[in-house]
Amino acid sequence: MTIGFGSLASCVTTNRTLPTAPAHAITQQGVKPARIDAHGHTVRGLTPDKAISLMDKAGISHMVLMARGRNDALTTKIYKQDPQRILPFVSTMYPGWHRQDWRVLSRTERKLSTGIFKGVGEVMLRYYGIPSKNEPVINVPADSSFIKKLSDIAVNYNVVMTVHMEPEAEAIRSLENLLDYNKKLKLVWAHCGTVARVGLKTIGHADIGAIMDRHPNLYTDIAGVQPRSVVPSGGLRRPPITDSDGNLFPRFKKLLERHSDRVLFGLDTPWMECWAEKPFKRWTEWADKVVSQVEDTGAAERIMHKNAKRLFNI
Ligand SMILES: [Zn+2]
Repeated sequence: MTIGFGSLASCVTTNRTLPTAPAHAITQQGVKPARIDAHGHTVRGLTPDKAISLMDKAGISHMVLMARGRNDALTTKIYKQDPQRILPFVSTMYPGWHRQDWRVLSRTERKLSTGIFKGVGEVMLRYYGIPSKNEPVINVPADSSFIKKLSDIAVNYNVVMTVHMEPEAEAIRSLENLLDYNKKLKLVWAHCGTVARVGLKTIGHADIGAIMDRHPNLYTDIAGVQPRSVVPSGGLRRPPITDSDGNLFPRFKKLLERHSDRVLFGLDTPWMECWAEKPFKRWTEWADKVVSQVEDTGAAERIMHKNAKRLFNI
């Protein structure tokens, strides 16, 4: 099957020119990028050409796009430029979602019925907001009738739901209720169970691996958890899962080893400053190094693209 790679001819070279490519970037036909970014964001000002060219430069074959704000039109425009490689999500990142206005659910159903969207997100369940960015504090319980209904819609259309949730005890309880309520739901709780910096002392990171043990329909990603030192200009990041040299902290190494079949690669690009060559390249290199530390040799390929292929039916 060549689906998804046909339009990548421009960045395909032979083994001779790229002898040190990581295992997940090597295919029988030569060296091709086999990285699927499961956590990208459409931001105002982004153009289809810019999105596709940065994907090419960083060796990313496919990318999820979740609009910040009510901007599915731009996500759709980028998708139309290269439908084989863009995985568009129906955006849930605007106030109607945060105040649980049920009209957004019927709007979502209408959009999913077009057949082009592969998911919904990033659903902000618990979010502290960034004061300097003038963002709201968000609290939408995962087991509310509103989110349960969204999960039913997602299952009905066989799409993925990606959520952002600071790991407060009450939020985790509600998430587990949702996962029990809807066992067919494919849910990605982004960011490896990390807590935003402001909650580091009071809450701490969640043991997401233990929660994944209990819920086979729960996934996570390594998006937004790169150390700031990798590229200081790349936009706000959460507490990292590695040191500044890219060495995984033990608890996250354990998570990736235990659940390499349900961890996804992702950059997390919610600010315009993320959409530049430097962050794309350096974060991708960082991710390559992260997955190379997982003992099981197949894990790198699973995290970088195989899990996403399965999840998104690519
Ligand atoms: Zn995000």
